[in-house]
Amino acid sequence: MRGEVIAIGDELTTGQRLDTNTQWLSQRLTELGVEIVAHTTVADDLALNRDAFLVASRRADLVVSTGGLGPTADDLTRDALALAAGVELVTDPETVERLEALFRSRGREMPPQNRRQAQSPAGARAIPNPGGTAPGVDFTFAETRFFALPGVPEEMREMWAATVAPAIARLTGGGRVMRHHLVKCFGVGESQLEAMLPDLIRRGREPLVGITASKATITLRITATGSSAEACFAAMTPTLEQVRQVLGDLIFAECDPEHEIDLPEALLNNLAKSKKTVATSESMTTGWLGHWLSRLDEGRGIYRGGRLYSILDTTAPCDVPSVEREALAIRTATNADYGVAVGRPTPESHADATRTGEGVPIAVAGPQGVESKRIVLVGHRSIHQSLVAKHALNVLRL
Ligand code: ATP
Ligand code: MG
Repeated sequence: MRGEVIAIGDELTTGQRLDTNTQWLSQRLTELGVEIVAHTTVADDLALNRDAFLVASRRADLVVSTGGLGPTADDLTRDALALAAGVELVTDPETVERLEALFRSRGREMPPQNRRQAQSPAGARAIPNPGGTAPGVDFTFAETRFFALPGVPEEMREMWAATVAPAIARLTGGGRVMRHHLVKCFGVGESQLEAMLPDLIRRGREPLVGITASKATITLRITATGSSAEACFAAMTPTLEQVRQVLGDLIFAECDPEHEIDLPEALLNNLAKSKKTVATSESMTTGWLGHWLSRLDEGRGIYRGGRLYSILDTTAPCDVPSVEREALAIRTATNADYGVAVGRPTPESHADATRTGEGVPIAVAGPQGVESKRIVLVGHRSIHQSLVAKHALNVLRL
């Protein structure tokens, strides 16, 4: 079943408010086995809303919209649905009565414009709204089922859970569900990783494997559909085993999308398990390592502190021998099991089209001695610090 989410509101199209409803609804719909084919964001404008509903009716079997259900003149979802379907707006006397009673119970008379909220396209059903005034609209035209919900996130979620999700579960044929599993990797580029798994990264494959890169970490997302969550995970198993076998040590964690783990957290968990401690000395990474490790330590005493060089400090280590000495020194000074040191970048650290850079020196000192590396700065400069910081943690991990 193909689905679309439509978010309506000037506050969204002008960028004043981030559209979180679409993200939330898409996650829920996907879990119910609906394949989301499009997201549309549209201003509070009748013709634009009508067109959005018409386009959606052609490409989706199921549409969930949020926003535009209020009582004011710029709340046009009901009107636009009726216009798109070519039907009249009708007033539901029961809803009028309920709205009037609601206002009376608050000691007020219902303003005339609130009658609008009792209107819906002919043939539609109201979706009860326990937490607010505006009922939602459940309406079918051009063989597409539309669920129109309010924009207020709390109301939207309540109505989703009480009415919409059960209705969609019935539509999708009794609980065909979708689940994701994430495999987090470090130390290899996106295209390199794709080349290692040529048969797996194919569109339309079941289970589906997708790759995304963010801040030097690569995430493989494995997606399966089945009659239950267990069936989804069982369907993923052969793919997962293949991925683990090919990628080996490049994988630093596996997790579900709700609890995504990045390299610092995975590393700290490893150190906690083996009851080891760590300290840092940083120049290029300006305290990133110390920040990550101290924040994630959570009182376990794994992170023993560190030394931070000003980026102007020319005495900071900038070659392999000096960064190795620094890693040993910080290890000794803090009495930690591991000392991690990140040196200072020089103009030669960068690689570009005209030259191969030498890289930034990093070193890890531990019970087995010192290991060092140079990390060449490639890609956009905004990720250089996290790239180097994660490389340093990766040496420690391996
Ligand atoms: P009503 O809630 O009265 O039916 P509406 O549905 O158009 O009206 P608005 O008055 O436009 O809702 O917005 C209500 C609140 O919900 C605002 O704070 C708005 O920023 C927020 N909101 C609306 N749409 C979204 C969205 N897609 N994502 C996150 N917040 C939203
Ligand atoms: Mg609105």
